[in-house]
Amino acid sequence: MAAPKVAVVGAGVVGLSTALCIAETCPSCSVTVLSDQFSPNTTSDVAAGMLIPHTYPGTPIHTQKQWFKETFTYLFAINNSAEASEAGISLISGWQVFKNTPKEELPFWSDVVLGFRPMSEAELQKFPQHQFGQAFTTLKCDCPPYLLWLEKRLKATGVQMRTRKVANLWELHSEYNIVVNCAGIGAHQLVGDEKLFPVRGQVLKVHAPWVKNFIRDGDGLTYIYPGIHRVTLGGTRERDSWSLSPDPGTTKDILDRCCSLEPSLRGAEDIKVKVGLRPSRQCVRLQKEVLSQGGVKLPVVHNYGHGAGGFSVHRGTAKEAARLVGECIAALQGSSSRAKL
Ligand code: FAD
Repeated sequence: MAAPKVAVVGAGVVGLSTALCIAETCPSCSVTVLSDQFSPNTTSDVAAGMLIPHTYPGTPIHTQKQWFKETFTYLFAINNSAEASEAGISLISGWQVFKNTPKEELPFWSDVVLGFRPMSEAELQKFPQHQFGQAFTTLKCDCPPYLLWLEKRLKATGVQMRTRKVANLWELHSEYNIVVNCAGIGAHQLVGDEKLFPVRGQVLKVHAPWVKNFIRDGDGLTYIYPGIHRVTLGGTRERDSWSLSPDPGTTKDILDRCCSLEPSLRGAEDIKVKVGLRPSRQCVRLQKEVLSQGGVKLPVVHNYGHGAGGFSVHRGTAKEAARLVGECIAALQGSSSRAKL
């Protein structure tokens, strides 16, 4: 069989990292990324990019932990290299604070992030409305720079990038041997997945260079995440809302909530409002499927539905998707050599 042609649909953090893992694990493959939007116009560009996992109720915890660990290890190595600033990766310390002590004082990811510990009384004094907290150091991706860095790596390994809206995966069967679906919330229409729903998030990206530590309310709704250039203030979680229009009332509410955690943010400047739709599901859809029409088959690998935690697990799910692509290639090579006999 000639070099397998693989199409990856989607150019968010999941599509780009999956294409990179496929190119790394199968150098003889010809990989093309097809997407109707690239950075800066994807959901991934809106994200804060913090490595704090979201829990997927339908995925075993040990699998989620493995995805997170692989992603943390990968980005930590970039953080410790000369590429860190270009890739937008930084280490950041801060606090997750709770009004009431949570049932689980040790989240499953506590031994993956660095230096996880309960907050001291002195630290808690900064947050008079909260009675419990956890301090740790984690990684943050500044999203547009990280996506551009991934695109640059892909081009350097010979991966093609094409702007194209795909109406259905089958339309790719005559041009590609394997299709990888990383369409994010676009998979709702692309493959008619009714289990996939949007969770709208509005955030503010502000200039406040004096804010050096992250602060996250344990309910996950209010957060302050400083990056290399801007601070992300959040947020909202609106299930089943497809609106991409910023809401001015929500902007004021986010600013008020964040200022109650960090009053110095009243001095924040150059406030930019962004909205994104988290591609949410009970579990990430990470599996093979074989489409077939009139005896012709098209192997597909799905990798979408990362909800509120795509950055936290992207490298782990990309590695697993690349492994599944490897299985599809082995099956295709097996059937083409049987056909020659
Ligand atoms: P996307 O980035 O949406 O990419 C999908 C791609 O598919 C796009 O390029 C799109 O153009 C393309 N596409 C779709 N349909 C088609 C089609 N039919 N044909 C061709 N191309 C198509 N996660 C974290 O881990 N940490 C955080 O701090 C964090 N903060 C967030 C804050 C907000 C406000 C939001 C909204 C999300 C946040 N997330 C965070 C979640 C994270 O952004 C997502 O999980 C992640 O971006 C999903 O990536 P994706 O590549 O699957 O989707």
